[in-house]
Amino acid sequence: MLDFLRPELAELQAYTPHPGGEITTLIDRLDTNESPFDLPIELKEKFTEIYKNHIETNRYPDGSHWKLKQKLAEYINESTPTNTPITHQNISLGNGSDEVIRSLLMATCLNNQGAILTANPTFSMYEILAKTLGISVVTVDRSTEDFSLNLSSAQKALETTQNPPIRVLCLVHPNSPTGNPLTSAEMDWVRSLSPSILVILDEAYFEFCQTSFITELEKHPNWVILRTFSKAFRLASHRVGYAIGHPELITTLEKIRLPYNLPTDSLTVAELALTHRHLFYPSLELIINERQRMYQQLSQFSRLKTWESTANFFYIRLAEETENSQKQLAEITQKLKQQGTLIRHTGGGLRVTVGTPQENDRTLQRLLALSEKWV
Ligand SMILES: *Cc1c(COP(=O)(O)O)cnc(C)c1O
Repeated sequence: MLDFLRPELAELQAYTPHPGGEITTLIDRLDTNESPFDLPIELKEKFTEIYKNHIETNRYPDGSHWKLKQKLAEYINESTPTNTPITHQNISLGNGSDEVIRSLLMATCLNNQGAILTANPTFSMYEILAKTLGISVVTVDRSTEDFSLNLSSAQKALETTQNPPIRVLCLVHPNSPTGNPLTSAEMDWVRSLSPSILVILDEAYFEFCQTSFITELEKHPNWVILRTFSKAFRLASHRVGYAIGHPELITTLEKIRLPYNLPTDSLTVAELALTHRHLFYPSLELIINERQRMYQQLSQFSRLKTWESTANFFYIRLAEETENSQKQLAEITQKLKQQGTLIRHTGGGLRVTVGTPQENDRTLQRLLALSEKWV
């Protein structure tokens, strides 16, 4: 109706993780891969003290992100040591890694200069952000057995896509929604790619899987690693994500982002989390143990097929796929919601976040009952 809007945006769906509607019972929010735990209370208290006595709300935030970058470099070098240590020159911060993804796409593909390549199912924001910028998206499929990339299709897409060519490859390690890490065959292929293609390695779930490609960054200036405070660091509400990459790419990202993209409170609380990172390790261990426990049980549910996960969620499909499968999965999702468990039906399967032990018990019980009854 409004003639000044780009017509292609009318067809786009906004990203709506929570499907809305009425929920009557206790809610287990297992649909967005957050941590089930709020920030440790001692950090909330420290933050409150800082907010009260030190933060001047009338002043703009530190647009250089200097302090947080220092702390991040220290954390990265501690968790994944590299030959040449990571410094502030290798880091750019965004309002969530979503903002960093958008900046990366703007830096590479705008004005019909490039397309992106993704492998479905994967994190949907890549496609959504590309489309809002008028950037074309080429997708290839994954094995239905283990969700590894169809490498020959991917290679073919790279060789044949023109006007514009593929400029960016988007890979998630471990992938969402399927939970699988990149394989050595996939990484060999990635290593073989032309340096004129930017490879995004999204490590949003790094802390749950503990393997990273940071050690190879120096050899591959065309790689960039994305991380976030939204998952393991329990700060989804504060929207802090970051890129780690070549200084020239980082300088470009810093030009593109909004000058005050991170509010002072978000910068402050992320710094606090890093300074006191040891406080997060017990909850990480708990989630990883729960992941193990859930996998053992889920893999015994005869009507469901569950894949091992190296992240904080599971991907589940029906053991026997028929033409009704998607309808049945939608029904399971709906019934779970009525019972107070939110999960995500996406990419042809169910994605279920690992929650607290009590939440996970309920999830297991409800999934078992529903799969026996409905499938
Ligand atoms: C959750 C998630 C992000 C988004 O992180 P934010 O920092 O909250 O924007 C990025 N990539 C993947 C794969 C995710 O699952």
